[in-house]
Amino acid sequence: MLYGKWRPNTFSEVSGQDHVVTTLKNALTQNQVAHAYLFSGPRGTGKTTTARLLARALNCQSPLDGEPCNRCPACIAIANGSAMDLIEMDAASNRGIDDIRELRERIAFAPSDLKYKVYLLDEVHMLTQGAFNALLKTLEEPPPHAYFILATTESHELPPTIISRCQRFDFRRVPNDAIVSRLQYIAAEEGFQLDESSLEAIARVARGGLRDAITLMEQVASRYGSNPSEGEVLESLGLVRDERALSLADRVEGEDLAAAITIAREIADDGLDIALFTRELINELRERQLTALRDGEQARARVLTTTIGELARADFRLDPASPVPLEVALALAILGGSPVAAVAPAEGTPARQNGAGRPARPQGKPVSEDRPLSKDERFLKELYDRCRMTNMKAAAWLNGSCEVVAIGEEELELGFYRKMHMEKVATDSRTLVEQQAEVLLGRPIHLKVSLLEKDARNERKPRSGHLAAAARAMGATPVEKES
Ligand SMILES: [Zn+2]
Repeated sequence: MLYGKWRPNTFSEVSGQDHVVTTLKNALTQNQVAHAYLFSGPRGTGKTTTARLLARALNCQSPLDGEPCNRCPACIAIANGSAMDLIEMDAASNRGIDDIRELRERIAFAPSDLKYKVYLLDEVHMLTQGAFNALLKTLEEPPPHAYFILATTESHELPPTIISRCQRFDFRRVPNDAIVSRLQYIAAEEGFQLDESSLEAIARVARGGLRDAITLMEQVASRYGSNPSEGEVLESLGLVRDERALSLADRVEGEDLAAAITIAREIADDGLDIALFTRELINELRERQLTALRDGEQARARVLTTTIGELARADFRLDPASPVPLEVALALAILGGSPVAAVAPAEGTPARQNGAGRPARPQGKPVSEDRPLSKDERFLKELYDRCRMTNMKAAAWLNGSCEVVAIGEEELELGFYRKMHMEKVATDSRTLVEQQAEVLLGRPIHLKVSLLEKDARNERKPRSGHLAAAARAMGATPVEKES
């Protein structure tokens, strides 16, 4: 396991917890080490590592500036796990009063191989109330040769009496750049070749947990070898290909709907899994939401919360390759209380409102499903569905980017809105489309493609007006009369 192999050997090697290790080093150099510490914080942020380093530094025969020497017998015994006087207890499996009573009986005995006994109680919040009471007595009067380090991910579950007996350190999520730099160091030592953007992706997924980040890097290397491409790294992390989730999040915050929808369509055009992309987007927005709340930016937090809510409601099950649910969710989020501002309520139909002054959304199926499809549209949808079952990427170029121009005896003509889509289908996807069209029509079919005039989409087909369709489904009609 790489994480165990590359555990820091000094306080200064501990990533992202400078506020903790600086204070500890000062306490060590000034002989003011407390007899009980509480290390609280998320998993994988260095609590156990720091506790073991504290045990080394306390017992080290020639410490330097608070750091352990890592050469004396005490340092070596602790590093290789053979020191009898470093007692590590997992409170999750030793949580009863008897376990703590046993600890209290033994703590009175002098250390056997080190200068001090150090008790490391991991997951200490798991102790029973009786065990806490027993522990409290020991914490109140520990023998001079004993030190306690209580570690927990859930400090709020500890009795206040325990917390007040300890000097407390809150371990923070390790910043991404600190994770990246530690990964870079380990990768260089291990002979892994991973570029910086791959390491950044790993750091993002690890969400401030250095242990998780190192484990992820190890998994990538064991799956793809020591020189994986960025694509392989992202694939093994279950991420989408690029940074467009970040850029789309920026557009949401800037309330730039047009730019946001453009990105959503690009994602679909590239044949990416929209639901997966949306999940990535939600994760990014949630991070920003938390930052906004911590910084007291109420207005920003409100925009982000609304967007997360709309995105979480988007239903991609009907057609995972379609950007429409994402587009509608973005529109509802960005246009906020006025998604029907450009359209007035239908005559005789009172606009449905909820308490927040925004139109109520129809429940159940996505709004884009409400309008019945024409015969050609049904054919195209069927064709797309069949192609998608065979080759999702090749099928993506058909999705929402073309329409049926003609279905002849031997020929199917598809018209495209964009040249690139037309060319892709005419080359990469041709065989697939012809095969599936043949199955659907029951006769050999040659595919013909043509480019539709610019803006043909908007003039010809009400189908493409996703947002207008969404608004209509909410009981609105366009202000401008359709001519
Ligand atoms: Zn030493």
